[in-house]
Amino acid sequence: MKSLKEIRDETFEKLGLSENNSGVFYGKWIDYRQENSIEVKSPIDGTYLGRVSVGTPDEYKKAVRMMEREFIEWSETPAPKRSLAIKDISDGIREKKELLGKIVSLEVGKVTTEGQGEIQEMIDVGYFATGLGRQIYGLTMASERPYHRLYEQYVPLGVIGVISAFNFPSAVWSWNAFIAATVGDTVLWKPSSKAALTSVAVMRVIQDIMEKNSIPPIFALVNGRGGEIGELMAEDRSLPLISFTGSVKTGKHLAEKVASRLGKTILELGGNNCAIVSEKADMKIALKGVAFGALATAGQRCTSTRRVVVNEKIYDEFREKLKEIYEKAKTGNPLEDGVIVGPMIDEGAVKDYEKAISKAIEQGGKVITGNKVLERNRGYYVAPTIIEAREGMEITKEETFAPILYMFKYSTMEEAMRIHNNVPQGLSSAIFTTDLREEEYFLSARGSDCGIANVNTSTAGAEIGGAFGGEKDTGGGRESGSDAWKAYMRRQTVTKNYGKDIPLAQGVQFNVE
Ligand code: NAD
Repeated sequence: MKSLKEIRDETFEKLGLSENNSGVFYGKWIDYRQENSIEVKSPIDGTYLGRVSVGTPDEYKKAVRMMEREFIEWSETPAPKRSLAIKDISDGIREKKELLGKIVSLEVGKVTTEGQGEIQEMIDVGYFATGLGRQIYGLTMASERPYHRLYEQYVPLGVIGVISAFNFPSAVWSWNAFIAATVGDTVLWKPSSKAALTSVAVMRVIQDIMEKNSIPPIFALVNGRGGEIGELMAEDRSLPLISFTGSVKTGKHLAEKVASRLGKTILELGGNNCAIVSEKADMKIALKGVAFGALATAGQRCTSTRRVVVNEKIYDEFREKLKEIYEKAKTGNPLEDGVIVGPMIDEGAVKDYEKAISKAIEQGGKVITGNKVLERNRGYYVAPTIIEAREGMEITKEETFAPILYMFKYSTMEEAMRIHNNVPQGLSSAIFTTDLREEEYFLSARGSDCGIANVNTSTAGAEIGGAFGGEKDTGGGRESGSDAWKAYMRRQTVTKNYGKDIPLAQGVQFNVE
C-alpha cells in the first residue's frame, strides 16, 4: 500500500492543491500567508499534509460584501435556472468524487467507503436541489374580500452563513449551500479548523466548475481558527441566517449571540442517540444496525449510537454477540481494506474517551470490552468500548464523541422508552422489533422524542431526501431534504386588490372623502 505522503502528493496534484494553501476565497483566492495559517496533519499517522491560511476580519468583511453584491443578480435569476447551475456543480463533483473522498479520509480519518459516501452525499443533495428549483411553492388562500387575492410567497433571504463541524467536513456545507443557492441566496462558509484542507479542496473543485459553466461566484469561503470568524458572523447583521453544525456548548453560545440581534439560526447540535432492541427483534439486523451505528466513523457522527436498551430476555445473548463483533472489528488505517474503525480526530478526542470511561466506571458502569488507547503518538486510535450501564448514570446523558456504547437492560417497553428519552439531546433514535404495536408505540407521541426515528435500521446513516435535524439540546434545526428549503427564505403574505373599491377586512368601515 502507498504511503500517506504518496497518496497526498497524487491527490494534491490532481486537485490543484499545494503544501501551502489559501483558505480564503471570494471570487478569487486571497494570497496565502504563512504567519497566519493552520497546520494540517493526518489523524491516521500524523503525516504532515500541508497548511491552510485563515482569513482576517477585513477579508471576512470583503467576502460578505461580495456575497451581498452577487445576491442581487442571483436572487433575480429564475429558480429553475439557478438549480441547473447546482446540477452542473454536482456533475462536476461526481467527476472528482474519488479524489475529494480521499482528502476527507486523509484529513479527518474516515474509512474509504465513508469518505466516498461523504462526497456522494454532496452529489445527492445537489440533484435534490436541481429538482427543487421547480418546486418552490407557496399556498393560495381564499380572501374574504371581493376581487382580492391572498397568497404566500417565499423570498430569498440574502447571504447565509454556514459554520460546519469537522466530522462531516463537506457534506454538511452542501446540505446548506446547495439548497440555499437554489432558493436564491449566496453563501459564506466558515469550516471547522480541523477540516480546513477539505474546505479548500471542495472550493477549488467548485471554483473550476463555476468558471467553466459561467456560474457567478455565489459561494465564499473564509477559514478561521475556533471562534475567530464564527464570532464575527454571529454579530453580523448582514447575515440574516446562520446555519451552525457543532457541539451543544458552542451552538448555544452562538445562538444567544445571533438571537440578541434577532437573526435566524438553524442549529444542528450534538446527539445522544439510542437504539431499543426488543425480544421480538431480528437478531441479525439488530446486531448489524447497532454495530454500524456505534462503530462507523469511530463513533464520531452526530447520529452515532451511544446507548442501546435491550430486552432482558435477550440481553445476555445480544451482549455476547455484540462483544464478538466489536472484538473482530478491525481498527486502524482507514485507507486499508477491511478496516471498519478509523482514528479519532485528535489527542483531545482520545482524552475525552478516557475521561468518559473512567467516569462511567466511577458511576457504577462495567466495561464489557474496549477501554484501551491503542495509539496516540502516530495517529489516534482507541478500542471501541461497550459499557454495561444503569439508568440515571450521569455520563450516559452526555455526548462523548468517541466509540463508547452504554448498554441498558429493560423489562417493559415503557421502561425502555423512559431510558431512551431521558437525555438532554434529541437527534436520532431506533427500534429493532418485528412487532407492529411496539414499533407504533415508538413512533407515537409517547415514543421517541427525537427528530429522526428509525425502525429496524441504524440511528446513523440518514438519507438526504428527508429533513435532517433533532429536538431538545440538538437545537431544532432542519436541513437537507423535504421542505427544509423554507428555512433559507422568508415567508411573505401577499394581499392583492384588483377591484374598483377598497373594502377592509373584518368589515371595518373607514369613511373618508
Ligand atoms: P465544535 O462545536 O467544536 O465546532 C463546530 C464549529 O464551530 C467549527 O467550525 C468551529 O470552528 C466553530 N466555532 C468554535 N467556536 C466558535 C464560536 N465561538 N463561535 C462560532 N463558531 C465557533 O464541534 P466539532 O467538534 O467540530 O463537531 C462535533 C460536534 O458537532 C458534535 O457535538 C456533533 O454531534 C455535532 N454535529 C452535529 C450534527 C447535526 O447535524 N446535528 C452534524 C455533525 C456534527
